[in-house]
Amino acid sequence: MGSGRNHRRVAIIGGGISGLAAAFRIRELAAAREFPLEAALFEKGPTLGRALATISEDQFVIETGADSFLSEKPWALELAKRLGLEPELIGTDERFRKTCVVRAGRLVEIPEGFTLLAPTKFLPVFKSPLFSLPGKLRMAFEPLIPARRGGSDESLASFVTRRLGRGVLDRVAQPLAGGIYTADPAALSLMATMPRFIEMERRYGSLFKGLRAASRNRPVQSRGTSGARWSLFLSFRGGMRTLVEALATRLGECVRMRTAVAGLARPGGGGGGWRVGMADGVEFDADAVVVATPAYDAARLLRPHDVELARLLGEIRYSSAASVNIAYRAADLPRPPESFGFVVPVKERRKIIACTFSSVKFPHRAPEGAVLMRAFLGGTLQAEMMGLEDAAMVAAAREEIAALLGGGAEPILAHVQRWPEQMPQYAVGHLDRVAQIERHAATLPGLALAGAAYRGVGVPDCVHSGEQAAEAVLNYLQTRT
Ligand SMILES: Cc1cc2nc3c(=O)[nH]c(=O)nc-3n(C[C@H](O)[C@H](O)[C@H](O)COP(=O)(O)OP(=O)(O)OC[C@H]3O[C@@H](n4cnc5c(N)ncnc54)[C@H](O)[C@@H]3O)c2cc1C
Repeated sequence: MGSGRNHRRVAIIGGGISGLAAAFRIRELAAAREFPLEAALFEKGPTLGRALATISEDQFVIETGADSFLSEKPWALELAKRLGLEPELIGTDERFRKTCVVRAGRLVEIPEGFTLLAPTKFLPVFKSPLFSLPGKLRMAFEPLIPARRGGSDESLASFVTRRLGRGVLDRVAQPLAGGIYTADPAALSLMATMPRFIEMERRYGSLFKGLRAASRNRPVQSRGTSGARWSLFLSFRGGMRTLVEALATRLGECVRMRTAVAGLARPGGGGGGWRVGMADGVEFDADAVVVATPAYDAARLLRPHDVELARLLGEIRYSSAASVNIAYRAADLPRPPESFGFVVPVKERRKIIACTFSSVKFPHRAPEGAVLMRAFLGGTLQAEMMGLEDAAMVAAAREEIAALLGGGAEPILAHVQRWPEQMPQYAVGHLDRVAQIERHAATLPGLALAGAAYRGVGVPDCVHSGEQAAEAVLNYLQTRT
């Protein structure tokens, strides 16, 4: 491959944030290494960035998918800086940095010092109405619970119940896992999603002790936030699409929209690189390929080359969810919301799984006098909600918001976005499966996989995965010249 050309060619399949980051990084690295390279990115849909899908309308900045990214994981922030987007970055309004949980039809704050699953302080937990008295006593025994032996994976539900009791699972861990991963905690791999809790148990014998030690070791100015400079969650003034648009502008003509890759061939048995076949019959010969699609699409493309690889990819399940953005006149709400939002335990039997108070969490999200919220429906545990029509989804979101916040005013905006089969589910054993996938992929020269399916679903993880794939592919091409 490459005959008659004085440059190498790379095809990137999938124009989500992982594929975009891969394409941008490979061009960046090739330029820095003065390596002649042509990159082409193929996206089957009409838009890039998929879940980074901001709509700007009547002074509202509406996030129908991702609304922020973590600054603790550096890759998205670093990419934004390299794209010159630092002036566009915005942090959350720290005055309202609280998340609530629905309990018996009321919003109750997650007590201060509660880090995702476990408490660092017992006093706020004991004062909180979120847990029952037996639940609080059970939590207090956490430091005395022996650490689990062996290094095997465990579900989030099993871990939390074992260490902190059923109350923490039902009231905090399940709804948070639902809000972040749209997952069933009984199936969700702790090792793939929250490995630091496993490490804490192993090292300190207790989450309480581990979290206390971690907060003591953190520099004073960063306690309570992720750093002096940036808040824990970041976005852009114009919404998450800013990142996608900046990437698209830089990538220019190397992006081919509405171009579905129908098949991958290896003419000459692999030594000849990859032939990318489009649905319309056009072909693109490449020396290397980055497959940055969801795992089920990657399985289909790679089945002819490794049946076992395709089977492993196909084992990664996905869930569906929908977001309903709703805005109200502030004056129509009985009380202004004063937190980032709330999550809903399944036990509460409500129609939504979470709700973000978007215009409280970030500035510039709604015009003066309006409040923008975003409810989520569906996920693994309430998949039946995806069968509702759009109007019924809006009605469900309105009903729940009215019940939980009071009022029942007419919204001034309502927007439904469905995300079918968009959230990969990291089941127990996920990291072993990914290691096997990577071993199989490594036997196909010039192939790299990237995306949310593998080692992290968040935007920074996806950027990292795309950038790692880019580097691997470029290193491979350089060793062959
Ligand atoms: C509703 C929602 C809210 C979220 N909120 C947050 C958040 O606040 N913060 C955060 O960090 N993360 C969030 N996430 C997670 C994060 O946004 C996603 O994990 C990430 O965007 C996935 O990117 P990706 O590139 O790996 O996959 P995708 O975005 O799925 O991109 C894959 C692309 O491949 C294309 N494709 C597939 N097959 C082919 C083919 N044969 N040929 C050509 N193209 C193909 C698809 O059309 C798609 O565009 C959220 C996700 C969702 C769905």
